Amino acid sequence: MTPEEFHKYYPRLLGWIDNTLRAHAESARTVASRGFSRLPLYFSANTLMSAKVVPVDQLPIPPLSSWGLTRFADFERGTFDGITYLDTFFLKRGALRNEAIHFHELIHVIQWRILGPENFLRLYADGLERFGYRDSPLEIMAHDAEAAFTANDVFDAEKMVAQKLS
Ligand SMILES: [Zn+2]
Repeated sequence: MTPEEFHKYYPRLLGWIDNTLRAHAESARTVASRGFSRLPLYFSANTLMSAKVVPVDQLPIPPLSSWGLTRFADFERGTFDGITYLDTFFLKRGALRNEAIHFHELIHVIQWRILGPENFLRLYADGLERFGYRDSPLEIMAHDAEAAFTANDVFDAEKMVAQKLS
């Protein structure tokens, strides 16, 4: 994606995210309220109190193809269980009791926070375009951390993301 193209689509994407978050604000709950026992070993209380989760039947994905960005069509079909926008992630209902998926999406919340929306979206779009969903760098970071979480390694997840992005 050229810088000009990113510049053109960024405001539209941000507007779509803002509308989507507003439309679901009433069903958003804090991650802390979900009561998972291991997440507090990896994330600060502040993060768990501010990050939110929204249960959905279908994940909201920006209509990139209809905006003319057809090369992200694979991503739009999204075979994943969750997606994060800023400090809020959407989860398919079947994933609501899955602590590892919450962990994975929280890694994205930290990425959004550290990078800021513009850099997050630029890096994410660039990774998708060059490597595809599963092998994009921000996804690899989240998947690797999730694997370590599942293997019971304990580490400061917020520090880990900060170090990897620096
Ligand atoms: Zn992910």
